[in-house]
Amino acid sequence: MPNHPDHPTLHVSDHPAVLHKLALLRDATTEHKKFRELVREISWLVGYEALADARLVPLTVRTPLEETEGSKLADRIGLVPILRAGLGMVDAMLELMPTAQVWHLGLFRDERTLRPVEYYNKLPDQATVDLCLILDPMLATGGSATAAIEVLKQWGAVHIKLINLIAAPEGVRTVAAAHPDVSIYTAALDRGLNERGYIMPGLGDAGDRQFGTGGG
Ligand code: URA
Repeated sequence: MPNHPDHPTLHVSDHPAVLHKLALLRDATTEHKKFRELVREISWLVGYEALADARLVPLTVRTPLEETEGSKLADRIGLVPILRAGLGMVDAMLELMPTAQVWHLGLFRDERTLRPVEYYNKLPDQATVDLCLILDPMLATGGSATAAIEVLKQWGAVHIKLINLIAAPEGVRTVAAAHPDVSIYTAALDRGLNERGYIMPGLGDAGDRQFGTGGG
């Protein structure tokens, strides 16, 4: 996953499997069950690419025939799904990293101040992981992502990555300006936000489409 030419902290997948699944994810006729499966599958693929530079320690393993050299992940990894849409990304990431810790973070946007407000935070007093992966399908304005990164940095997290499925240039710029040390991994970089803050062409409301709450 190379760095994007216009956004140095952004990595956009160009893997054919991701692109195929992304078109199905965007499709308005894709029903909730299939949508959840696609969120899971694309999260796995993007998460896999985001882990490409994870640290390893060597170990010795005994095959049925002899001893050989192997590796295991050295980083203690924390998954931080942003409620509620990030929940659908957790299982895939736990398949990739079964020993990861999961720390839920709830943020909503205050319609008066337009600032993200934290309403749920179960992080322990001190950082217990080396690498935090923030999970949120949509990087729109970047307000929630920036707030989540600030919470994690105050907590003591040093190495943070953001995993999205679709990003808007506005959100990428906001996060990169405030946190140039945080790499962003996504399946797609879309055109931009509409007047209601939706990513265009996007996929609609990622929470509603996963959980069947859109009223449609
Ligand atoms: N959140 C969503 O679920 N969809 C968007 O398009 C933007 C933010």
